[in-house]
Amino acid sequence: MTNIELKHKWRTVLDTCPVDKLNSVKIDQWYRPLSPKSIDEENGVIYFIASETNPMLKHMVNSNFNLIRETLIETFGKEYKIEIIDEFDDFDEDMEGSYSDPHYTFERFVSGANNRLALAASLAIAENFTPEYNPLFIYGGSGLGKTHLLAAIKSYVRENNPEKKVIYVTTEAFTNELITSIQKQTTEQFREKYRKADILLLDDIQFIAGKEGTEEEVFNTFNALYSAHKQIVLSSDKPPKDLKTLPDRLVSRFSQGMIADIQPPDYETRVAILQQKIEEKGLDVNQNISEVIDLIAQNITDNIRELEGALTRVIGMATLSNVEITKGFAKSVLTDVFHLKEKEISAENIKKSVAEFYGVKISDLESAKRSRIYVVPRQIAIYLIRKHTQLSLPQIGQEFGGRDHTTVMHSCEKIEEELKINDSLRKKIETIENQFSM
Ligand code: ADP
Ligand code: MG
Repeated sequence: MTNIELKHKWRTVLDTCPVDKLNSVKIDQWYRPLSPKSIDEENGVIYFIASETNPMLKHMVNSNFNLIRETLIETFGKEYKIEIIDEFDDFDEDMEGSYSDPHYTFERFVSGANNRLALAASLAIAENFTPEYNPLFIYGGSGLGKTHLLAAIKSYVRENNPEKKVIYVTTEAFTNELITSIQKQTTEQFREKYRKADILLLDDIQFIAGKEGTEEEVFNTFNALYSAHKQIVLSSDKPPKDLKTLPDRLVSRFSQGMIADIQPPDYETRVAILQQKIEEKGLDVNQNISEVIDLIAQNITDNIRELEGALTRVIGMATLSNVEITKGFAKSVLTDVFHLKEKEISAENIKKSVAEFYGVKISDLESAKRSRIYVVPRQIAIYLIRKHTQLSLPQIGQEFGGRDHTTVMHSCEKIEEELKINDSLRKKIETIENQFSM
């Protein structure tokens, strides 16, 4: 297995393992900082380097292994153990260099109105080293490409100006390194290392808040680099002025260069990103794939990581189960993972889906008709509106010809009871839910 294949497969594992919101945070926190270094296929071990020196990392990686185990076996063909190599213990050589991802380049960064300024400023820095805007402060929500841009600067310089020293570090890793260096009494080496940079890329600076030692160290490093005319690039999830607990002297340093925001991408940019992803995987954008792209781009609007994750998951699942990628398949795969646009779930849509499913009219659901062919669908519609919308019991009553709230409550209880024993009803309700949630 080549190194590229190894990285690719590992990425697939992280992007396709079936997790809910909570566990996806764990994946991001404990597994994404790992970068696969080599694989020992005979002994079933994959060796990783961690981009962070978090002392909890090894423990957490092991104790959360169940989250990825199945997918790892499916992807790699058998179970592998995860071993993390301690490369971060010594400060000497370019260890942050081992954490460079070939995926994060300018070529692979799709430009759109949402990120134009941040992209242009990053490119200018990578090409010229002219600290015209110093620092460059990039801010935007999670999953919008901040780390990608910082890493792209690094990989561009490495390619075109390898004699220049570019250091990429997350604020968390910086903090942990600082702590370790204090324990080991190597703070001098720590300082020197960062002051040697031609470009310092400090990712997720919002995590500095409240850590006074780190604030101090960042402040001093900043001043040293700044007065030596070296470039500093910072990323954050908020603009400097909104980093509430940050001391004024840091806010004003951070604001003195250029501040560029990244906004969520518009529909066209989302589609372009997904298309690029498809091409990277060597697939053709046929009619079916276009529909899938459209489905995902319509539903996941403010996080590119989730956007890509959804696509990777659809492709991964289709490959594993050896079926064709269609819009229907994508819907079925994505309902478990993503909360597809809930704001479109209205009482109106739910009534419509239920009416269609049972072949009755919406007005029949709302009417006082007591025939069984209306009563059951009506109770289901009431139950689903209660479950999926914020409407109160009396408001739901209004949706059904002014019924009393106790009637509404009775309907909900009735369906809930029935669901405990009736599997076929559960399936029907799931089908209806799929209908109105997309
Ligand atoms: P952030 O650091 O802002 O949370 P990342 O840089 O980690 O976000 O981006 C999340 C994912 O989305 C990455 O896989 C990245 O490659 C991808 N991504 C973000 N913006 C773009 C873009 N404009 N074009 C292509 N891929 C992007
Ligand atoms: Mg990031």
